[in-house]
Amino acid sequence: MTEELGDWKRTHTCGELRSADTGRTVTLMGWAHRRRDHGGLIFVDLRDRTGLTQCVFNPATSAGAHERAQSIRGEFVLAVRGVVARRPSGTENPKLGTGDVEVQASELKVLNEARPLPFPIEDDVTVEELVRLQYRYLDLRRPSLYRNFVIRDRTCQAVRAYLHEHGFLEVETPFLTRSTPEGARDFLVPSRLSPGSFYALPQSPQLFKQLLMVAGFERYFQIVRCFRDEDLRKDRQPEFTQIDIETSFLNRDDLLPLIEDMVRAVIDRVHGVEVPRPFPRLAYAEALARFGTDKPDLRFGLELVDLTELFRGGEFQAFQQVIAAGGVVKGLAVPGAGGLSRKEADDLVTAAKSYGAQGLVWVKITPEGLQSPVARFLEPIRGALLERLRAAPGDLVLIVGDAMPTAATVLGRFRVELAQRHRLIPTGGYALLWVVDFPMFEWSVEERRWQAMHHPFTAPRDEDVHLLDGRPGEALAKAYDLVLNGQEVGGGSIRIHQQVIQQKVFELLGITKEEARAKFGFLLDALEFGAPPMGGIAFGLDRLVAILAGEDSIREVVAFPKTQKGSDPMTEAPAPVSPGQLRELGIAVVDSGREPRS
Ligand code: ASP
Repeated sequence: MTEELGDWKRTHTCGELRSADTGRTVTLMGWAHRRRDHGGLIFVDLRDRTGLTQCVFNPATSAGAHERAQSIRGEFVLAVRGVVARRPSGTENPKLGTGDVEVQASELKVLNEARPLPFPIEDDVTVEELVRLQYRYLDLRRPSLYRNFVIRDRTCQAVRAYLHEHGFLEVETPFLTRSTPEGARDFLVPSRLSPGSFYALPQSPQLFKQLLMVAGFERYFQIVRCFRDEDLRKDRQPEFTQIDIETSFLNRDDLLPLIEDMVRAVIDRVHGVEVPRPFPRLAYAEALARFGTDKPDLRFGLELVDLTELFRGGEFQAFQQVIAAGGVVKGLAVPGAGGLSRKEADDLVTAAKSYGAQGLVWVKITPEGLQSPVARFLEPIRGALLERLRAAPGDLVLIVGDAMPTAATVLGRFRVELAQRHRLIPTGGYALLWVVDFPMFEWSVEERRWQAMHHPFTAPRDEDVHLLDGRPGEALAKAYDLVLNGQEVGGGSIRIHQQVIQQKVFELLGITKEEARAKFGFLLDALEFGAPPMGGIAFGLDRLVAILAGEDSIREVVAFPKTQKGSDPMTEAPAPVSPGQLRELGIAVVDSGREPRS
């Protein structure tokens, strides 16, 4: 039997009471986290989002409340009234904020009952993710998950406060729109009023934010949902949230410090940590050479070392061929990792090949000398090798000779993997850096054409504009990524605001005048009506919050995420629709049910 709330008012939360409250009459509301029957006394841990309070039902205090408490089961919704008392000495619970006190219940209302749960509401219970997502509202009752949303909320709060303070205006842009230029597959929405035509859900507000600059808004931001219909490899979601920003009249070196301070404000708000400024900057080429990636984790060293000159002209034929073909030899020393078994070493070679390298040389540095399948080629250069790599006995050295960037990226992966395996990455810190000077274009071998490394509206560096005629592969862009602990959290660029250059970039990308007109004609028009210099950035909010919350997966910081197959086990979206709905849209499904859902 349940009761109405009536005129009961909650006086305190379940995380609030302390021994100083002893003697007060309080009313708490929440969920029955646990119930224990102890010879006449019934203990109920009452939980709300702030914590737990122990409530004691004693027949001597109230026979009625005690009687009713016997019906309480896990997750019943309760209102408890009673007096705060110190717990008998020796029964305090130091793990709970409220652990010194209990509420001696005199009245109880059961506001609602609950079926037996599919899983207990505990942080350390492992439950299959599908079940968690199917009952996400129960999953979200877990304190650690709730904490993630507090971090998310504080992040957004700090962003809004900072940007408003700096003259930014929050503006919404449409969801029902046309294709945007991020280059992923669009989600399409059929139009009922124009049968056969479709809206595309925006992959980002890129074109609109540039138009807002043409409109003279100067400083725009939006915390906005974006949609990309990609295969959900790794840790992606089909809909995700960006902190999207655009400004006018700022060059890169004005913009980056402004953004830096926003990120510092967020970390300060969330964790009370002051991150030093300015954030270091690394050119893309340097990041690749030293860390084998354009998102280096700078919480630890383990830099790659170029060994090409050391091996040039030597006896090791495999490397000679690589060098003769214009390739490089790169090495990495992992401190204290030299104790690996032959099998583990062979596994590294297999992994290197699966990462695209032709091979991998491993070397164990021992007090007696070098241990390696190719030790005899290395002995003559041992001194120089160890010095260049700053390697010492007990270390493991990995060497790859290959074309750039393969040699670097393969070692870059080992750098991170081995640092993780050997616990060389300090936790709790924030290593932020800008990666700048990205190439404008990358050559797509499959499609035999240039592709924009960022997006087609990214401006070349002033000194590189002339390279667009003839040597586009060498032109660097006014693009930048913000990297936090080895993950890209934001990326943006100064935009092209002159039609002529925009046209040239489209040509290089193989976008014909007609295609450009058809796709982005409105933007091209706008660029002819007095477009100011502009630039901006977009942050992946989910990723940023996941890092701040110490979570590996962004699904832990999205309230209702999708599975790897893009489905939602709770609502069962996506779902078939009625023939009537399809008819109204002028759509016939020819091959339904092709892909199994899960
Ligand atoms: N629209 C870009 C993106 O989503 C970011 C930017 O250039 O501002 O990656």
